[in-house]
Amino acid sequence: MMTTSNLGLYLHIPFCERKCRYCDFLSFPYAQTQILSEYAMALREEVMIQSEAWPYRLVDTIYIGGGTPSLLSPEDVAMLLDSIRENFHVSLDPEITLEANPNSVTEEKLRGYRQAGVNRLSLGVQSFDNEVLRFLGRLHDKNQAMNAYQKAKRAGFDNINLDLMFGIPGQSMKKWTDTVRQATFLRPQHISLYSLSIEEGTPLYESLKKHEFLETPSAIDREMYHEALKMMRQAGYNHYEISNAALSGKEGRHNMKYWSYMEYLGLGLGASSFIHDSRYKNVDSMIDYLKCIKSHTAPIDAGSVENYTIREEMGIYIFTGLRRAGGISLEHFRKCFDRELFDVFSYDVVKKNKGLLIHNGDRLYLTEYGMDVSNRILSEFV
Ligand code: SF4
Repeated sequence: MMTTSNLGLYLHIPFCERKCRYCDFLSFPYAQTQILSEYAMALREEVMIQSEAWPYRLVDTIYIGGGTPSLLSPEDVAMLLDSIRENFHVSLDPEITLEANPNSVTEEKLRGYRQAGVNRLSLGVQSFDNEVLRFLGRLHDKNQAMNAYQKAKRAGFDNINLDLMFGIPGQSMKKWTDTVRQATFLRPQHISLYSLSIEEGTPLYESLKKHEFLETPSAIDREMYHEALKMMRQAGYNHYEISNAALSGKEGRHNMKYWSYMEYLGLGLGASSFIHDSRYKNVDSMIDYLKCIKSHTAPIDAGSVENYTIREEMGIYIFTGLRRAGGISLEHFRKCFDRELFDVFSYDVVKKNKGLLIHNGDRLYLTEYGMDVSNRILSEFV
């Protein structure tokens, strides 16, 4: 098995102004802006260290995620992107995304990001309802979300994603559909929709344990999902992945790599990589990370290196590929693994999941309702 593709670079910025109540991502509240610049310098150093291991690789997507990357100054973003251009071969038309929170952007800052080369902005809106935003512990309100979008457009962004969240306790169906309607009315090129997941260790989980609210029943959660898909389709969006819809040609190229068995290199604290048939993560302790960078060593967590068997890799291929509405190509599976998919996995999975999992010619894909139970179906391939 050997995968080679153009490389996607992911840069992790693990800082936020304050933790949202539901967040279990690797991010910390930061005390001084100086810390951000120091981290950006370390990240620049990591770009140089990692590029030595992967010479001549063509990079065609760069994704700056977090945390809250929009806390970085445009100068720091420019420094990071310049360093990538100096140390990797960047394609002529790379997709360069930066995640931004509505309360941490000004028009001037957004112009700066644009000038630095960022050409896609992902705004963490989550909701256009102030009560819902307060429940989540977000720092922005509805007006700031709307303004951030308009500022991004004025700053020259013509490829914008809005992240939206549903299944939130206290969020009625009307509040949710109002949010989706507002989002489609603004007409961003891309919309991502996620169901709230209440993870252990978060303040929201503690509140749930104290019975301060009731979880959204899963039937309502699913109804919200399908209603949103219907509204987005009517507005001209193409639902191309379980959680993502886009206007034609505006599918997220970087995230597509995760679902298409393509290679990506993660830089920064705790970032994951899949490259040269190897899967691993960077260390997630800031002290260890900075120590590695100081000694010019790639900050890879040796304990995280996964040695999956070919059969397990096939399972990952299917698990990620079936997230796409178009599903997987049996021919591509054969090219990657030199085996027929149904020689490895029993055709019974298709027969058992009639109406949910479809095999049609070269394609194997989940229907919209199959996506509701994707975890159960996908687990049959692992
Ligand atoms: S902005 Fe995002 S990463 Fe930061 S605390 Fe909130 S959910 Fe977590």
